[in-house]
Formats: sequence, C-alpha cells, structure tokens
Amino acid sequence: MKINKAYKFRLSPNAEQVVILTSLVDSARFVWNEMLALSLEMFAKNEFINAINLVNKIVGLKNNPEFAFLKSRSNAVSLQQKVRDLASAWSRFFDPKVHARFKESKKKPRKPKFVKLLDGTEIQHRPLMPQFKRNADRCDSMRLVQFDKYCRVEGNRVKLPNGVGFVKFRKSQEIVGIIKNVTISKKSGQWYVSFGTERELLQNPIHPSKSSLGVDLGITKLITTSENKTIKPKNSFKANQVKLAKLQRQLSRKVLFSQNWKKHNHKIQKLHSHIANIRHDYLHKVTTTISKNHAMIVVEDLKIANMSRSASGTMENKGRNVRAKSGLNKSILDQGWGMMIDMLGYKQHWRGGLVIKVNPNYTSQTCFNCKHVAKENRRTQVKFECVKCMYVANADFNAACNILSAGHAVLSAEGGCGKGRPMIQKTCDSREEVA
Ligand SMILES: [Zn+2]
Repeated sequence: MKINKAYKFRLSPNAEQVVILTSLVDSARFVWNEMLALSLEMFAKNEFINAINLVNKIVGLKNNPEFAFLKSRSNAVSLQQKVRDLASAWSRFFDPKVHARFKESKKKPRKPKFVKLLDGTEIQHRPLMPQFKRNADRCDSMRLVQFDKYCRVEGNRVKLPNGVGFVKFRKSQEIVGIIKNVTISKKSGQWYVSFGTERELLQNPIHPSKSSLGVDLGITKLITTSENKTIKPKNSFKANQVKLAKLQRQLSRKVLFSQNWKKHNHKIQKLHSHIANIRHDYLHKVTTTISKNHAMIVVEDLKIANMSRSASGTMENKGRNVRAKSGLNKSILDQGWGMMIDMLGYKQHWRGGLVIKVNPNYTSQTCFNCKHVAKENRRTQVKFECVKCMYVANADFNAACNILSAGHAVLSAEGGCGKGRPMIQKTCDSREEVA
C-alpha cells in the first residue's frame, strides 16, 4: 500500500530570501493569469484546452521581450506546475459530475461576471471556471517537483533552487517517506513549506485496536461517542469574535483601499488565519486520539454544505428563521465538521482502520433500546425518553449508539472489509416509517 502524506511547516526566510521567493511566486501567478487569458480565448474559439497545449505555450510567453523577467526571475518547473494546475482546473470545469455536485449544493446565484477578450468581445465567466489571481489575495504558492534534483533537506533547513539557498523551517516533526515535491506558499504575510511524501508499505497496516465507535456531532458538544464520552468544541471563532468585530468596525471608518485601509485589512486577515490555525490544530488532536483508539469509526453522512447554506434562506423564503439559523450556521462552520470527517478518513486509512458514513435520518428519534421511532421520544434537546419502553438516556449518547449499530449493519451487509482499504459508504436499509 502506498501512503501519501504532506508535512507543512512554517518557513523562516531571511530578507534576501523573501525577495527572491516573492518574485518566484509572483511570476508563477503572472503565468497563471496570462495562461488563463489565453485559454479563455481558446475557450471562445472552441479550441481544445489541455495540459500539453498550455505547457507548450509557456515558451512563447518567455520569449516575449515584454516579459523578460520570466527568464531571469522565475522557476521553470514551478511555472509548468502552475500551468498544469490551470489545466486541471479547466478539466474540472468540463466535468459534468462536478457540475452536478455544484447544482446539488444550490449556491446562491450571483451577478454574472464578464471577461473581455482581445478582440473586444466579452464572454460570461461561468461558475466553476478558473479565476484570475490577484496579488491582494495574499495567498500565493508555487510547487516544485523532482525534489531530489533541485532541493535537499538538512536538519531543520531546506535547500531551494534559484539562488534561494538554505532556508530554515520550524521542524515540529520528523519527515517520514521519500519527498516527492515541495510547495512554498505565502499566506497572510507568513511563508510555509509543505513536503509531499510517498511511502510504500510492504504490508497493509493492521489497526492495533479492535474496538468500534459511534460518533454524534453536535453544536454544544462537538462529539458524543457511543462510549458516552463527550468532547467540547474549541470555539476559536467565538473567542476572537469581539476582537474581529472591533477591527471590522475600525476598517469601515477608513478610506477604501487607502494605505491605512490596506494595513488594517492585513490585520483582519492575520486574525482570520490565526482562528483557522487554532481550529485546525484542535481538530487534528481530537481526530488523532479517536483514530488511534478505534479500528472502526461510524459517523453520520451529513451534507454539511447544504446544512449551513440552507440557514441563509432562499430568495423566495427570505427572513424566516434566518437569525436563529444563522447562529447555528456560524457554529457549524466554526467547528469544521466536514474537515473533521475528512481527517478521520485519511487517518484511519493510514492505520488500517475504517470510517463508515451512515444515513443520518432518524438517528436522534430512534430508541436504542427498542428501536421505536417517534418525534415524541425527544421532547427536549438534552433528554431522550422513549414513549414505548420508557428508556431514558442522554439524547446525544442515544444517537451515537444508533449510529454505531447502523455502522455494524452496513458492515455485515457488505460481508466485512476484504479489500484492505476503508470503505466509505451509506446505509441502504429501510426503516419503519415515523408515526
Ligand atoms: Zn424504546
């Protein structure tokens, strides 16, 4: 089995190195934008857009005397990788499956945008089309492949090409596996390095634990397990909300796009990335603990994107419950349920464990004791009281137990896991109808 893992660290370049790195990511972004403009022309003419077509056009761009800096201040490999990224963005755009998923998520229709072509005509920028990158987005990256050829890691330093030389990074853990590629990125004024590694395992890993766990995701309690343990959420956003609101108020009083406005906006972006880092770190800790201790983890298959979107209301149905729901909205996004389920998925994959997604319908209304389904079972948010057999339990705990047994049902229906890889699937068993 092959294991691909990325290790991301904070990079600490010196002033000189920052200058070179900035010019490298700048030229990568420049090539993306130029190539996107070119491919939009091709799109208007119904020409075929693919990676080879686009990569071949880099030479023309480099030979243009106006863009002479591409020859002196860019990395050829990273430019090629950028263009390949663009090509895959286009192939996603042409993929009907991606469009179907996009339609399912029912994003609010936006005002149509238009892109001007060379001959003066305009074409509409359709959803999912690749977009132009701006410097102001403060989010830039470049990727180098064939790591061995151009780079090398020595202790807590990495050697980068183009005269950057050795750059220190904060090595918080050992890098395991063969480094295949390296991505240098810049976000909110910070530089990061990410090593993409590959490791071949002779045997498929076997999870050290034999236990299984049902997990119920909630707002006030992030996780309630079928072992009746709860994990509190880390409301990184809530804690920083006051600070953020203050900064945003101050920003609104400044002249739009003035130097002061830009400085202040940068502060807000830094706070946003700080919040995201806290949440990310916490979720990693929680999911690692769960994944280490349980071979099989059963979660609800939540359409999180749908849940959080429905709260903002539809065009016809504006205003109903919007306020109450938008509170829920913020909490869901703050806790990052989707991110957590993804993390559990790949961590179980590495350890040889399993994540099963089950149908979330009625898990909170079904009695774990007698399987009776009724709305009346759950009169309050916290307490579960079965109207048929009088079973009383914590509502979230009852749900977690139901989720676990639904997971076992999936597993026995599929005849166990013989493929040596985690199966991610949904239940298809029918349940009795709700009274
Ligand atoms: Zn019951």
